[in-house]
Amino acid sequence: MAKVREHILALPHVIDVHDLHASLVASGTPVLSAHVTVEDSCMTDGHAATILAELQRCVAEHFDISVEHSTFQIEPAAHRDQESIPH
Ligand SMILES: [Zn+2]
Ligand SMILES: [Zn+2]
Ligand SMILES: [Zn+2]
Repeated sequence: MAKVREHILALPHVIDVHDLHASLVASGTPVLSAHVTVEDSCMTDGHAATILAELQRCVAEHFDISVEHSTFQIEPAAHRDQESIPH
């Protein structure tokens, strides 16, 4: 898991990763979900979509988790302060 986190943080404009969860469903398929905090500008310049695609490609290529089994929530940096419940 630490490795996954490293890979995600290595992407440009990614500031933070939290709520990173990986599990195996009944069939033995790995499933991954995470909240990814990116720079505010990425939300307005369309880069967030690129980051999302890169995240899915990264976990598919490096961790063998297919696109349909990875779920990323992209959040702007400003959103961090708005999350009332720490997670
Ligand atoms: Zn979050
Ligand atoms: Zn960006
Ligand atoms: Zn990677």
